[in-house]
Amino acid sequence: MIVAMDGPSGTGKSSVSRRLAGALGARYLDTGAMYRIATLHALRKGVDLDDAGAIADVTAGLPWSIGTDPAGEQVLLDGEDVGIEIRGGAVTSAVSAVSAVPSVRELLVDAQRRLAREAARIVVEGRDIGTVVLPDADVKIYLTASAEARARRRNEQNIAEGRGDDYAAVLADVQRRDHLDSTRTVSPLRPADDSVLVDTSELGIDAVIARLLDLVTERTGVQQ
Ligand code: C5P
Repeated sequence: MIVAMDGPSGTGKSSVSRRLAGALGARYLDTGAMYRIATLHALRKGVDLDDAGAIADVTAGLPWSIGTDPAGEQVLLDGEDVGIEIRGGAVTSAVSAVSAVPSVRELLVDAQRRLAREAARIVVEGRDIGTVVLPDADVKIYLTASAEARARRRNEQNIAEGRGDDYAAVLADVQRRDHLDSTRTVSPLRPADDSVLVDTSELGIDAVIARLLDLVTERTGVQQ
């Protein structure tokens, strides 16, 4: 059973996907983390981010691995745990450029399909899972929330994690990434025609999870 979970950043997608996977006894795949690993690798190799050919070259031999345990994500680059570094500002600013390179997407989409096939049950989180990566997923969910609600959450997370308090800058970054992700030529961010839209602007995580568990049971017969 495959649940595809798409939507822009800041909708609570990662927390929701992880908790949903836990409740369903499923694996969890964070495809954004895969694009972040590729980006960190390109940055470490000193690649010019305007040079798509150079990005493609360094990611061809990407020495990475990613775990699918919803209780704790393990992301390795060259054998080193880079779980914290891939969430930092440098990677976050550069990831849209790297994820727009077609050969990077091909490489990672292949790996995503393989990891999804290996699991009996899995929640796969990203931007293009229901549209491109796994169009035959049993349940397709598209989480949305207003840009302001998403920026507010991200800013609160930054404050809690000691990365400062700057709502205006976070809102500008949310809008910039939305624009880049939805206007790129390869796999732009958009809901699949057969996805269920869930707006999380005014919903707490418990309410979202309850709604999604009902939806999964209704569509697949799978219970918690
Ligand atoms: O989900 P997260 O914010 O970690 O994703 C980081 C970036 O990776 C996104 O802004 C997007 O550019 C890219 N991405 C993508 N396709 C996916 C998942 C993430 O292009 N399936």
